[in-house]
Amino acid sequence: MKLVVDLNKCQSYGQCIYAAPTVFRWHSEESLEFNYNPDDGLRQQVERAAAACPVQAIRIGRSNEQVATAQPSAQEAHHDEEE
Ligand code: SF4
Repeated sequence: MKLVVDLNKCQSYGQCIYAAPTVFRWHSEESLEFNYNPDDGLRQQVERAAAACPVQAIRIGRSNEQVATAQPSAQEAHHDEEE
């Protein structure tokens, strides 16, 4: 998945680091470093981090999609179930 953090918005609260420590870390005292292309297995952690960010600086997208703003609920298309 693609991950973008708007560092102009980021206020270095560090909530994302608590929510997803394998993806976000401090680079120096107040500068955030993060994995731009984390494994899909980390999606839950990353979604938690995006939800925890007080200034909504974290955006998540699929690897081959445009990055969209993270929504609290999943934006999956609804497919009719076949029986
Ligand atoms: S939670 Fe948001 S504001 Fe805080 S460090 Fe992470 S991206 Fe920046």
